[in-house]
Formats: sequence, structure tokens, C-alpha cells
Amino acid sequence: MRACYPGSFDPPTLGHDDIIRRAQGMVDELVIAIGRHPEKKSLLSVEQRLAVLQACYRDLPGIRVVAYEDTTVHFARKIGTQVLIRGLRSYADFESERGMAEVNRANGFDTIFLLASPVHTALSSSLVRQVLAAGLPLDGLVAEPVAQALQQSPTDTA
Ligand code: ADP
Repeated sequence: MRACYPGSFDPPTLGHDDIIRRAQGMVDELVIAIGRHPEKKSLLSVEQRLAVLQACYRDLPGIRVVAYEDTTVHFARKIGTQVLIRGLRSYADFESERGMAEVNRANGFDTIFLLASPVHTALSSSLVRQVLAAGLPLDGLVAEPVAQALQQSPTDTA
């Protein structure tokens, strides 16, 4: 089975990493799909996010990293999967995810939700952006290739 894990990944965190590694063990191919939102101000460019995610999972079989501009389900259809992966940290995540998951389901795309590991329930890309802007260490928040890319990026976009 092929599944698609869509998201902004701006930047990718160890919470995303946990979901990716767990999902990878369940499917034949996991496509990490970075949504392009040209209207949104980003910390890392889509190209930087592609490069760091490719660096993180170079040695993990069955992982593909791509960027897309379509709606998620159009993109999922294009790559030939009807299965989406999303992470759930909290009830708030559940509430914000359920509407879209129901619509996607009605259109033939089902979502597998993986619960965030307890150590990652408070971790988000926006927390990482704040920590970076405050000049605090990123240990335990992001993988090494991500930390390196962030250290080279401007820090005024939290
Ligand atoms: P989006 O803008 O699409 O929500 P994100 O990059 O913020 O993109 O999140 C992508 C997916 O990863 C979402 O399903 C989100 O709930 C999940 N996720 C984000 N952070 C974590 C975390 N710390 N643990 C588990 N899942 C997470």
C-alpha cells in the first residue's frame, strides 16, 4: 500500500519524524507531500524543506518526498493512493482535522490518524519557529539536517 503524508513541514519537527517512521513501517511506500502555499510567508522555502526531508530519510526505504500545489486529494489521486496519514496531538487537532477527513472520505480518500507520542504532543512547527526566533537551542525539537538549515535561515519569521 502507498500512503501520502501531507503537510506544511515548515520546518519539519521530530513530531513529524515520529509519524513518518511509524507510518513507514505500515506501508510499502510513504509519500511525504509538502504543500506549496505561495501566499503564506514561510520560514524554509519549499526547496529547503524538500532537501532536508530527503536528507533525513535517505536511508529509510519506501520514502519519497515531493512538493505539490493541488488540493491534497487531487494530488493523492495523481500519485495513485487513497490513503492519507495525519498526526493527532490533541482534541484541538481532532476538531480541526475531522471536517476535512470526512469530506475526503466522502470522496474516496480515507485518513489514518496516528496519535502523537507523549513526548511530542506540545511540539509544533510554530513552536520551533518561536524557539529559533528566541535564539534558544533546537535540541529535541528537530533533526540535525533541519537544525543546520534553520541556522542558515533568517530568524524574523516566527
Ligand atoms: P498542516 O499545515 O497541514 O497542518 P503541519 O506540518 O503543521 O501541516 O502538520 C502536518 C501533520 O503532522 C498534521 O497532521 C499534524 O497534526 C501532524 N503533526 C504536527 N506536529 C506533530 C507532532 N508533534 N506529533 C504528531 N503529529 C504532528
